[in-house]
Amino acid sequence: MKITDMKCAIIGNNPVVRIITDEGIDGYGQGEASKPYLKPFVMYFRDQIIGADPTDVERVMLRIRQRGAFKPYGTAVSMIEMALWDIAGKAAGVPVYKLLGGKVRDKVATYNGNVRTPITENTPEAYAESMRQMKALPHGFKLVKQGVGFHSQMKYEDGFYFGTPHDRLSHGLLDRGMLTEKGLNHVVDCVEAMKEVLGDEVMLALDCGPGWMPTDAIRLAKRLEHLHIAWLEDLITGDYVPYVLADVYRDVTMSTSIPIHTGEQIYLRQNFRELIETQAVNIVGPDPADVGGIAELKWIAEYADLHGILMAPHGTLDGLLGLAALVQVSATMPMNYIAFEYPNGQPDWWYDIVEGLPDPIVQNGEIEVWDRPGMGVDLIPEEAKKYLKEEDQDFFA
Ligand SMILES: [Mg+2]
Repeated sequence: MKITDMKCAIIGNNPVVRIITDEGIDGYGQGEASKPYLKPFVMYFRDQIIGADPTDVERVMLRIRQRGAFKPYGTAVSMIEMALWDIAGKAAGVPVYKLLGGKVRDKVATYNGNVRTPITENTPEAYAESMRQMKALPHGFKLVKQGVGFHSQMKYEDGFYFGTPHDRLSHGLLDRGMLTEKGLNHVVDCVEAMKEVLGDEVMLALDCGPGWMPTDAIRLAKRLEHLHIAWLEDLITGDYVPYVLADVYRDVTMSTSIPIHTGEQIYLRQNFRELIETQAVNIVGPDPADVGGIAELKWIAEYADLHGILMAPHGTLDGLLGLAALVQVSATMPMNYIAFEYPNGQPDWWYDIVEGLPDPIVQNGEIEVWDRPGMGVDLIPEEAKKYLKEEDQDFFA
């Protein structure tokens, strides 16, 4: 089998790649909805993979892997990797999880990172109310993640920290600085209010930064120790930070019993090595659409497990094709797997243009692993065409 063409369309806001072969099988991959601007970079790889056998996934990856980088630039390579696995599974007539070593679980747990209405007021009551709504969702999520501190509106409040945040539209800029006592007290008040609602029925993880000074990170962890927080995410680096600082993470991790989590922006296994080998964090959270793909994610999960480190993949904006990739790879992970961050379809019409998803998708906080060949979720060309932009009209041609 040979790759004959590759196309990229921006559907909704998600970059979607379609790899076409000479045997009538095509494969899809999807990147985060926050990255429509990546299309030219995705298309840069087209000429690199044409003529290759897509079922030799690793051999194709060797042609393109060294051109990726930390978020957002790992996405193009990652989307292509997903599409290759989709083709390989379809060609073999088996779900992708079989090609990754087989599933070790029939249902995969997923956690709530974005099924919610935005919190408009920066008060403990508003945070608590948001938790009440999420606890009542039909999905039955067993773990909810909430942004606090530098990963929330809190940083814009006067007197929250010693610094001036960038304006709200400047997504991806790093706001950092030492918190005031008042600022830290406010974070703790909001977390206590949320835990009051969730009790011990739904666990709470906190996406905190990046941007905390290590001393404040330790103070925060100590103040929250009595609350059984699932993890503190991205305190030091994360999001769009193009480096890791494993040694700084290690200082924080060694000072608290709350699990410390990072990794969503990191590209490739090599960049997880120090985090894992020095036990710098307790949980890693690569995103398959950023880290270099699902096989990359699987490898990191195995290596983390060897070191007693847990795995909770990022995924919030990966879309419905990204969801399928997360389900396939999560089914194969070792017992250090916790749950992946649930991506939903945005806008809502995404649910009309794909086929293969169960209905409802999430029950009791879990997704049943499906058995169709490839990723098992496909675009429906006739439906998806309605939403193609002018310049993407030939995407299904
Ligand atoms: Mg995060």
